[in-house]
Amino acid sequence: MSLFGLYIHWPFCKSRCPYCDYNAHVRERVDVAAFGEALLQDMRYWAGRHNPGKLTSIFFGGGTPSLMPPELAAELIIEAKKLWGFADNIEITLEANPTSSEAKNFSALRDAGVNRLSMGIQALDDQYLKFLGRSHSATEAKEAIKLAAKYFDRYSFDIIYARPDQTLNHWRKELEEILTLMRDHLSLYQLSVEPQTAFATIYARGDFQLPSDDHAAALYDYTLNRLARENFAAYEVSNFARNNDECRHNMVYWQYYDYIGIGPGAHGRISGNARKTATNNHKTPEAWLSAVQKNGNGLQGEEMLDQKIIAKEMILMNLRLLQGLDATRFRQVVGADMMQFIDNKNFEFLRAQDFIKFDGKILSATATGRNCLNELAAKLIA
Ligand code: SF4
Repeated sequence: MSLFGLYIHWPFCKSRCPYCDYNAHVRERVDVAAFGEALLQDMRYWAGRHNPGKLTSIFFGGGTPSLMPPELAAELIIEAKKLWGFADNIEITLEANPTSSEAKNFSALRDAGVNRLSMGIQALDDQYLKFLGRSHSATEAKEAIKLAAKYFDRYSFDIIYARPDQTLNHWRKELEEILTLMRDHLSLYQLSVEPQTAFATIYARGDFQLPSDDHAAALYDYTLNRLARENFAAYEVSNFARNNDECRHNMVYWQYYDYIGIGPGAHGRISGNARKTATNNHKTPEAWLSAVQKNGNGLQGEEMLDQKIIAKEMILMNLRLLQGLDATRFRQVVGADMMQFIDNKNFEFLRAQDFIKFDGKILSATATGRNCLNELAAKLIA
């Protein structure tokens, strides 16, 4: 089945989390009416330019889209349906933070048309939540998850693991509690220190240390095995699902289908003339807003990708998936055989060392390979 997604970026947050390098902005006041109108305009521009079929998914990301009034989410969903149409069973996800003020909007968001909630829980431990600069408590997080379970058939939450001084024993207990709260999907990210973040400054000062690679790998392996006992598969490096509850919108990215990005800093990938075009919008909310008001769209730049870049992106993204890369689809998208873009010598070595598998149809990373995906891809791609 062919996928086609729409990403909508709401860039505002109540405060800046010290680990975060997303396109998130804190503002005293947000002109919701102006940003809402601009999102609708950006959407209309893209519908006029790229209309390959019905949408299979919409993803409201941020920033914190749960700060967006539910009426605006409803307006955007209605407009998207009018412009592109919705495939049966369209997935409409919204990222939400679990503070009590945001959780009280969950039922209105469901009524607006959102049918999947993805919550930024990050930890179920108050001390770690404080360290991560989150504005919710563990109690609020648990209450929000229960509310999500009440209003949504499909919900997921993000957890950050491999935190400073996190022992296997501590993680075991927390994971058991997570298991009582999750339904069929979980996103699990290893804590990392990204450049230009508050954590980068205090980490450089020596205020905290990250666990060793071995300890982080032990935490991940434990999680993998524990979740497997509950029938969860790591269908992507950081994402676990059972009962076919994979996030369809993220599959658009990983399987290299077309998607449109609207809102500040949003990216897109669109096909046409046997090529892919990468698009990117102005990053700051103000620059994007004034571009939409002036030009009718928020585009900052676009680039027609050459065949080699398309091949590289497609291999990189698909190797993240347990199901791997389908060589036939690769040929359809790239217009050439996958092996043309693979370093033959390294391919044989990585296969012999059990980092990758290839049966002539599907290329995939083994569990060992997925532990070092970036290094693996760098060696594999010619
Ligand atoms: S709430 Fe999310 S997007 Fe906003 S600063 Fe924190 S991690 Fe970043």
